[in-house]
Amino acid sequence: MSHSNCHGCSLCLLSCPMWQQQRDVQYSPQGLFKALQHNATHDDIAPALFSCLLCGACDILCPENIDITETIKTLRKEAFSHGIEAELNQKITSLLAQPSSELKIEENSIILPGKALRENPMRLTNIQSLLSSEADTALSLDDGDDIALALETGIEISEHRLHSFLEPLQGAKRLYVSNGHLLKSLRQWLPATELFALGHSLSLLSELTKKLNKNDLYLIEARSFHLDHKQKITHYDRLRHQQGCQMNLDLQRNAIPTAGGGLNAIKPMLESQEQLRWILSGHNIERIIVECSEDGAVMSQACDLPVLHIADLVEA
Ligand code: SF4
Ligand code: SF4
Repeated sequence: MSHSNCHGCSLCLLSCPMWQQQRDVQYSPQGLFKALQHNATHDDIAPALFSCLLCGACDILCPENIDITETIKTLRKEAFSHGIEAELNQKITSLLAQPSSELKIEENSIILPGKALRENPMRLTNIQSLLSSEADTALSLDDGDDIALALETGIEISEHRLHSFLEPLQGAKRLYVSNGHLLKSLRQWLPATELFALGHSLSLLSELTKKLNKNDLYLIEARSFHLDHKQKITHYDRLRHQQGCQMNLDLQRNAIPTAGGGLNAIKPMLESQEQLRWILSGHNIERIIVECSEDGAVMSQACDLPVLHIADLVEA
């Protein structure tokens, strides 16, 4: 289904961070698609187009089954081809041109932690050991952060760059991926490999989750969550009921994102503070537990409460 199928039901609005912040329908899938149906140009829609966090909340709400996030990526690509956001295009393209390693990794399980998690080596070591119960788990040499940014913007990834990223991962049976955009594409690129969202995998470990309590706000990583919403909501509901912890779920049972990481980190369009206000609204909490290091960094900067990564609970 394409944007021409949008009938303006507005279901996508309430879970959309763009709309929550702007309270202007132009900043929503509905606004974007209705504008295009009335011949708006890429220039007209560029501010909303580049504000989208690609959190995926709208994808699961749309009754027309429009793949909204993929449509937005295609529209960004078209906007670049019209010379819109040329500086951003150049910045991401130059990141993709950087050399990378093609060394093969021998272990059965590989973690792609991403830049933010790598900044905390002790946490990373904990995660490696938590996920190594059955087999050794190695760290990737290349996180593909540049590829994730290209995926967010529809920028073309050269065959050489993609090969250098995928080749070392080919022999692994399972991959734990921190970045939700990468996870979605890796499912297409490596169909024979078992692929897991890193934060969600940690949330399955009872040695960590038994330490959650009713005064905790548990932050689900939004992008990976919305990719497999039907399966994951059951798990998180069970966790919430077992431990009594609170979660960043809105009224439509979507995960509210922090706006940390990804494109919004290199070109801030949405305010993290506004996301936090929304996330914290109605919660009386003493501690915040995150699945994703980018979310943790945003929360630590913006509020006085202790913020722990779920892997840190092993020591709590
Ligand atoms: S992906 Fe998220 S930010 Fe983008 S339009 Fe959908 S709900 Fe809004
Ligand atoms: S939910 Fe889908 S059909 Fe409804 S307004 Fe949003 S994009 Fe259009």
